[in-house]
Amino acid sequence: MIQRPRGTRDFTPEEMETRRYYEAMMRSACVSHGFREVQTPIFEHTELFTTKSGPGIIEEIYAFKDKGDRDICLRPELTASVIRFFVNDLTNYPRPLKMFYYGPCFRYERPQAGRYREFYQFGAEAIGSPTPEMDAEVIGLAASILERTGLKDYRIRVGHIGLLKGMLRTAGVEGDQALPILQKLDKKMYDEARTLMEAAGMSIESAERVIAMTKVTGPIEVLKDFEGEARTYLEEVFEILGHYGFRNLEVDLGVVRGLAYYTGMVFEVDAPKLGAEKQICGGGSYSLSELFGGEKVFSTGFAIGFDRTLLALEKEGVAPKRFRVKAYVVPVNEGTRKKAYEITAMLRREGVSADMDLMRRNMGKNFKYADAAGVENVIIVGEKEIETNSVNVRDMSTGEQILVPIEGLVARLK
Ligand code: ATP
Ligand code: MG
Repeated sequence: MIQRPRGTRDFTPEEMETRRYYEAMMRSACVSHGFREVQTPIFEHTELFTTKSGPGIIEEIYAFKDKGDRDICLRPELTASVIRFFVNDLTNYPRPLKMFYYGPCFRYERPQAGRYREFYQFGAEAIGSPTPEMDAEVIGLAASILERTGLKDYRIRVGHIGLLKGMLRTAGVEGDQALPILQKLDKKMYDEARTLMEAAGMSIESAERVIAMTKVTGPIEVLKDFEGEARTYLEEVFEILGHYGFRNLEVDLGVVRGLAYYTGMVFEVDAPKLGAEKQICGGGSYSLSELFGGEKVFSTGFAIGFDRTLLALEKEGVAPKRFRVKAYVVPVNEGTRKKAYEITAMLRREGVSADMDLMRRNMGKNFKYADAAGVENVIIVGEKEIETNSVNVRDMSTGEQILVPIEGLVARLK
């Protein structure tokens, strides 16, 4: 037997129903916020991601040479692609340009629960300028999407990279020197961060102050000890989100997102029930387009880990209603088979999901099948009934059977 590659999954019909259900729900949340969907290729020039994240990313992605000797990779995320698309073709769109996407991403990671080599992201990017209202709009969209799914136990943690960067800058550390420190802080690897800060010439006291700052969490009031733009900015974002009706937000200055292009507000969402791989969304405001040869434009975006969100919903016992075929049409004998085809076709044309016996089973076996397959109604096409243009409809949940004129069948089933 040939097995699927490590870290990939096959999805059963039931799983696909669940996935499509939530995908549609997330799409409609985006549409109701005035975001429009875009799609970009699944493979890109590897350079796109090394430009964005540095050469180290190669170790984490599926990168290869194609037959034309080009360096190609499977995308590990979509923000880079969307911004590349913007720089290539979308700069003339009115701004803010609000876009969303959904699709598979690929990373060469060690597979475990909630961590795959092929996984799906549902994300959004708003391109325009950095304002608290833009950031609130994007956080609000992420919050609305999660709210709509019915997920209950999650935390939206909002930070501001400017506070940390500012503190490091005051201590004489910035740019390329600051980045590895921020990356260690992002991963909560404090000892390594301390070592790097001391190596960069910072005093033990100021290194400890930086680490203490990343541990500041709580309601917006925890920022009262900090002065400056970043604080007023976050206060405004929280205020706007309050008007939108979102209250389940907290400040967490430990949200770092260790990539150079994050500029200000950063946020993460986690679902504690997921254990180790609990982060279901990451986002923030950033400036990336100039790295890809465009003008400098500020954007705010996020990516929801679609698979982890579904795992979290499952853990909470939230399950969408299963799809059931409305009508299973069974001719009582060969004599009524033609009529059964006609009825099946009519139902399908009218948008009523309908199946017909394809296995030449007898009545008894057909009923057994209908039961096992979870069909809602069996339509019995009998000889006598056809003469009066009627059929018997058996409701499989109640066992109740009634005679229905074919004319009224669609209305009855709908
Ligand atoms: P992590 O720290 O868990 O590796 P990340 O910082 O790499 O996450 P992002 O690049 O911000 O994650 O991606 C956004 C979201 O995509 C994550 O919050 C997570 O839910 C999901 N995600 C990332 N990598 C994977 C993966 N290998 N399998 C499943 N979901 C993933
Ligand atoms: Mg990762």
